[in-house]
Amino acid sequence: MQLRTSCYFLFVLLLSCFCAAQTESSTEAPKEIPSFDLSAIDKTTDPCVDFYQYSCGNWMKNNPIPPDKSSWGRFNELREYNLYVLRGILDQAQAPGQHPAIEQKVGDYYAACMDETTVEKRGTQPLTPTLNQIAAIKTKQEMITQVGVMQRDGVTALFSFGQMPDLRDSLQTIANLDQGGLTLPDRDYYINDDAKSVETRQKYLEHVQKMLALAGDKPEVAAAEAKAILNIETGLAKASMDRTARRDPKNRDHMMEVSQVVTLAPNFELTQYFADSGAPKFTSLNVSNPDFFKAVNEEINTISLEDWKTYLRWRTIDTYAQALPKAFVDEDFEFNGAYMSGQKEIEPRWKRCVQSTDRNLGMALGQLYVDKTFGAEGKERTQKMVKAVEAAMHEDIGQLTWMSDATKQQAYVKLNAIVNNIGYPDKWRDYSTVIVKRDDYAGNLTRASAFEVQRQRNKISKPTDKKDWTMTPPTVNAYYRSTMNDINFPAGILQPPFYGKSMDEAVNYGAIGVVIGHELTHGFDDQGRKFDADGNLRDWWTAADGKAFEERASCTADEYSSFVAVKDDKGEVKLNGKLTLGENTADNGGLKIAYIAMTNIIASTPVKPIDGYTPQQRFFIAYGQIWCQNITDQQARKLAIIDPHSPGRWRVNGAVQNSAAFQQAWGCKAGQPMVRENACRVW
Ligand SMILES: [Zn+2]
Repeated sequence: MQLRTSCYFLFVLLLSCFCAAQTESSTEAPKEIPSFDLSAIDKTTDPCVDFYQYSCGNWMKNNPIPPDKSSWGRFNELREYNLYVLRGILDQAQAPGQHPAIEQKVGDYYAACMDETTVEKRGTQPLTPTLNQIAAIKTKQEMITQVGVMQRDGVTALFSFGQMPDLRDSLQTIANLDQGGLTLPDRDYYINDDAKSVETRQKYLEHVQKMLALAGDKPEVAAAEAKAILNIETGLAKASMDRTARRDPKNRDHMMEVSQVVTLAPNFELTQYFADSGAPKFTSLNVSNPDFFKAVNEEINTISLEDWKTYLRWRTIDTYAQALPKAFVDEDFEFNGAYMSGQKEIEPRWKRCVQSTDRNLGMALGQLYVDKTFGAEGKERTQKMVKAVEAAMHEDIGQLTWMSDATKQQAYVKLNAIVNNIGYPDKWRDYSTVIVKRDDYAGNLTRASAFEVQRQRNKISKPTDKKDWTMTPPTVNAYYRSTMNDINFPAGILQPPFYGKSMDEAVNYGAIGVVIGHELTHGFDDQGRKFDADGNLRDWWTAADGKAFEERASCTADEYSSFVAVKDDKGEVKLNGKLTLGENTADNGGLKIAYIAMTNIIASTPVKPIDGYTPQQRFFIAYGQIWCQNITDQQARKLAIIDPHSPGRWRVNGAVQNSAAFQQAWGCKAGQPMVRENACRVW
């Protein structure tokens, strides 16, 4: 599901917030964020030489990364702002007294998370039932049964099982079996041989050892267990398909009868697994990566039962680290926050608890958030901008010289069919069956996770629910789904610096307008173009147009592959142009069509320069400033491996280098760095 969703920023799915209680620093809410910030501009830089430095130079100088963050940018500022708004809601909800049911639930969840005394007192006791179940396992068959039980409670292990719209009949939802079971963020960490990867594995071993020792194992036993865990996960990693290959839906498209899958990987005991899964009956399913199941089938045999049990214990402890006493939280932060991301301090507990509430009861908290912050007016103005950007995309397609009329007609059909979802879902999720206890944070996590796993599995063998959102309303992000052919803008992003009521059109189109254009373009990037207007995997391109697209896309892939993501004492890492191709295509296309929309809007009204900048220049500065960012080397290194988005600098400079409108707006000349000799233009 996740891989068919293309979003504007990295969509952080990690369940754990890397965390322990520290001094609660300033509790003062941040101010509203300016959409267009003159003080951010570095006027000593020539915009035609380095536009990112020009737009953001002073911002970068004046906004160091806060100690509790691994990166800091304009959208982090808005996320932080939203955290304070949500905290206000949750503080009220958790206060003594009578509350409406939804408020009571999120309030109790937040209160349980904040109650460190109880968490400390209970120790690892909330995990005891699961750990006892694991200890009692006597056969490989029972081991698989236990994997199923744990997965239903939201603990990821060994592989993954869920749902997806049928790739050829998106109106129907089917079961999907996929690779999984890793703890580190990507298979590359287990496989690569460079010095940094070797170091990371060593640090990971030490981390696992420490966590198991905290859970009561003798240090020398824990050290051996850590090695067994790394060995198992390395096997899973080697059997996994890499991120770039997974971008091509063809590589994940393997419909099979249940009986075929059972034969393919008998040691997974899938007949029993499916029967116990809580999913409605099905006779066929998609297997995203059959090779994974073939390879791991062997390992289930060859690896000892004791090692498998150790692995399951680890997956349990790791998943619940945030809900355990401070010693666990601190060690989890040392590895995931400090070592892997370069974060200096853990976030104060209230921030972690607000985020945990958003992750686990997000549509309830979101309902309260929307009531407070997002009115009908917000929906209406966004709708208007979406229409204007859609019209611009239509115009843009019409002007393309490399695409035939036949394919253009198909592209229009797809563009017209895109569904716009703005602010929040039409129907709120019903959490009434989730039991939330004020003194049981770990239990609340389990019950909320189990609810979500079951909610997803219930979709199997039913008509696809196209109204279900994958992001909560306070999220500062947006996304496009190929199988739904829809664009989605949570209320959280529809405010400054992305949209400012008092801002001129040029600035709003340079910011939220480009976000809208970006999401629309995803329907036509290297991945999205393979799906039709109904969200089905179907080739609607003539062969010649398909080839012309691929040629243009490979220009973009080569361009971004030359950009450096990080250069430090551990060496230089360049961007993966193929992994980031869809996002870069969307950035370039989004910038172009939002510019067309802005030009159309201001055409009828004479617009004078403001602050010494023409509307065209303001448009580009607004775009550049959305991406003002500082990032730790560690985080930049990690994102280069896992994030399909480019870092802020290249989202700006990579796109403007290809833009004729940019060169015109700033009077840039051939030969200057922001004028690419052979510009890459797909849309
Ligand atoms: Zn995107």
